[in-house]
Amino acid sequence: MKKTKTIHRCTVLARCHLTPSMVRLTVGGPSLIGLVPRPAQDIEVLLTDARGSRIKRRYTIRNARPQVGEWDVDAFLHADGGPGSAWAASARPGSAVELVGPRGKLELRAADGHLFVGDEASMPAIAALVEALPAGQEATAVVETGSPADRVPVGAGRVHWIERGDRLPGDPQLLLAAVARELRVRKFEQVYILTEAHIAGAIRDLVRDAGIGSDHVFAKGYWTADRRPVTSGDAA
Ligand SMILES: Cc1cc2nc3c(=O)[nH]c(=O)nc-3n(C[C@H](O)[C@H](O)[C@H](O)COP(=O)(O)OP(=O)(O)OC[C@H]3O[C@@H](n4cnc5c(N)ncnc54)[C@H](O)[C@@H]3O)c2cc1C
Repeated sequence: MKKTKTIHRCTVLARCHLTPSMVRLTVGGPSLIGLVPRPAQDIEVLLTDARGSRIKRRYTIRNARPQVGEWDVDAFLHADGGPGSAWAASARPGSAVELVGPRGKLELRAADGHLFVGDEASMPAIAALVEALPAGQEATAVVETGSPADRVPVGAGRVHWIERGDRLPGDPQLLLAAVARELRVRKFEQVYILTEAHIAGAIRDLVRDAGIGSDHVFAKGYWTADRRPVTSGDAA
């Protein structure tokens, strides 16, 4: 039998900018009280597109305060502005929002060396995972952002920031080169690849070629380049 997902009917309680292109929204509601998400679990925000169809967009639970039923999500306001980004840009304290969660299979595993690879969309997840590492487990992060102004601290002992500059988001070259360099100079037992979907596949292959078994690699497309947003002109 299909499991019914609980829809949390929440309110946006607070909003602040972490960078010019990253907004932190605090959402709260009575059904969140007592829920304790695992590090980097996420929510599906339930939205309506320009055609009136129900759609979902996923955002990491960056912080949870189970006693009061509040979750923080950090949303990147990307230049192509799909419905998720539009929701985050327009949400204000008092706005209603429906969401499902906590969800997601990502789990930290004990390891001597962790490598996290990501971009703006996965900085919240990387920060939450690094924060949850037991003392003594080393974390290295390779993170691509448009410019230094888009960086949000991810907490890893070693962070290799990459500046995309004029390249388009979704271009794999800089991340691939940076990860190849890390794999040459350091040993990693556990690798988390949280990037654009095609880039995640290419980096997973690179990591596998470096001899790290698939049991030790978590690769997930956090977004897909060229997903065409539905505009009101598409409405039938
Ligand atoms: C498990 C999980 C957790 C996530 N957590 C977060 C989070 O905490 N914060 C966060 O900001 N995002 C997060 N994401 C990514 C977010 O869900 C996607 O970026 C999503 O596509 C945004 O939806 P949208 O409606 O704005 O754009 P879409 O309608 O999906 O896409 C429209 C256009 O925007 C472009 N686009 C979409 N996302 C990006 C991006 N990140 N960078 C550049 N271009 C983009 C696409 O190429 C497409 O052309 C997460 C994704 C997953 C799977």
